[in-house]
Amino acid sequence: MQYNQFGKLGNKSRLGLGTMRLPVNADGSVNEDEAIRLIRLAIDGGINYVDTAYPYHGGASEVTVGKALKDGYREKVTLTTKLPCWKVEKREDMDAILDEQLRRLDLPYVDMYLLHALDIGRYRKMRELGYKEFFESALKDGRIRHVGFSFHDGKDAFLEIIDDFDAWEMAQIQFNYLDDESQATEAGLKYAGRKNIPIVVMEPLRGGNLAALPGNVRALTEAYPVKRGAVEWAFRYVADYEEVKVILSGMSTMEQVKENLKLFEVMKPGNLSDSDRALLRDMKADFLSRQIVPCTGCEYCQPCPKGVKIPDIFSAVNQASMFERQEAFEKRYARMKEREGDASRCVHCGKCEKACPQGIPIRKFLDAVNEGRIFEAGAVK
Ligand code: SF4
Ligand code: SF4
Repeated sequence: MQYNQFGKLGNKSRLGLGTMRLPVNADGSVNEDEAIRLIRLAIDGGINYVDTAYPYHGGASEVTVGKALKDGYREKVTLTTKLPCWKVEKREDMDAILDEQLRRLDLPYVDMYLLHALDIGRYRKMRELGYKEFFESALKDGRIRHVGFSFHDGKDAFLEIIDDFDAWEMAQIQFNYLDDESQATEAGLKYAGRKNIPIVVMEPLRGGNLAALPGNVRALTEAYPVKRGAVEWAFRYVADYEEVKVILSGMSTMEQVKENLKLFEVMKPGNLSDSDRALLRDMKADFLSRQIVPCTGCEYCQPCPKGVKIPDIFSAVNQASMFERQEAFEKRYARMKEREGDASRCVHCGKCEKACPQGIPIRKFLDAVNEGRIFEAGAVK
C-alpha cells in the first residue's frame, strides 16, 4: 500500500474504502457479516481511511461501519461521514443529525465531517443556516475532529466554496480521466492543492463505467506496449496527481478488495509516463466521440418554462451511448418522467436554443428522445 501525508491527519493510505456499495442480501439489505469481514480485510490489508455517509444503504452503512470498527479497528482508521445538507432546514437540525449519526455508528466522535454533495445553491443555504458556527461548536465539544466537504457542481462553484472558508481540511471531488474538465476539474484540484487542501477522489471509475471498456477504447489499450487492465488505467490516472491524497473505491466483494490492495502497491504520484498520458487522452477522446449530443452541461438553457431537464436528459443519453448502456438510460429516463422533467413536456418554444452556447438543435434531440429513436443512427440530422 502507498501512503502519503494528508494535512493534519498524518499518513493516509492512497486507497480509501467507500462504503456505499457494501455486500447485500437478496432483498437488498446489507449483508452485515460479510460487510464486516470485507471492511476488516481492507483495514488488515493497509487501508486506513474509511468513508461513509448518512444515506448510504438507507442508513445501514453507518451502522455496519460502526460494528466493523469494534474489536480494535477504530483506532486503525480515519473515519469520515457527512452531513446530509438536503435534510437541513434550520441550524438545530445539524446537531440533531450529527447526534443521530454518532448513535448509528455507536461512537463518541468521527475524525472527518463533511458537508455532503454540495452544489453552489446548497452551499449558500448551508452558510445562511450557520454551518460555520455548527462546525466550530462540534469541533469544540469533540464530536468531530476535522471538517471538509464533498462536491458535485462546476469549477466556479468549487472555487467559491474553497475561498469562502479558511478552515477546510479536505475536499472530496469526482475525478477521473473523463472528468478532468467537468465537475471541480483538474484546474480546481490544482487550486485546492496550492491552498494546501488535500483532495479525496470519489468515482475514480465513474460509477464502475470505466471498469469495462467499449470496443474501440479497449483496442487502444490492447495495442499499447504496456499491458494494464481498465481499472488499473483509471486508478493510475487519478493517483498520478500529488494533490490527491486518498482515492475512494466502493468495494463490494472480497476479490475487489484483494485486487485493489494489489494495484495500490504502485499507485504513486507521477506514476505515468508521457506516452501513458497520451494513451489516456486518446481513450478519453474515443469515449467522448461516442457521445450523441454535444452538450457540455453548462445549464444556460435552464430553467425551461415547462420544466424539461434538458442537461439531465442529454447527460443520460451521452452516458448510455459512451458506455453502451441503453438499459441504464431507460431507468434514468423513467425517473425523469416521474419527476415531470422529461422531453414530452417540450412545447417547442425555442427559448432554450437561444441560450445554448453550443448551438444545439435542442428541440430535435428532445423529439428523438421522446419518440424513442435517439440511439438510432442519424436520429438528428
Ligand atoms: S423548446 Fe422545449 S425544452 Fe426548450 S425551453 Fe421551450 S419548452 Fe423548454
Ligand atoms: S445550454 Fe446547451 S450545452 Fe448547455 S446544458 Fe443546455 S443544451 Fe447543454
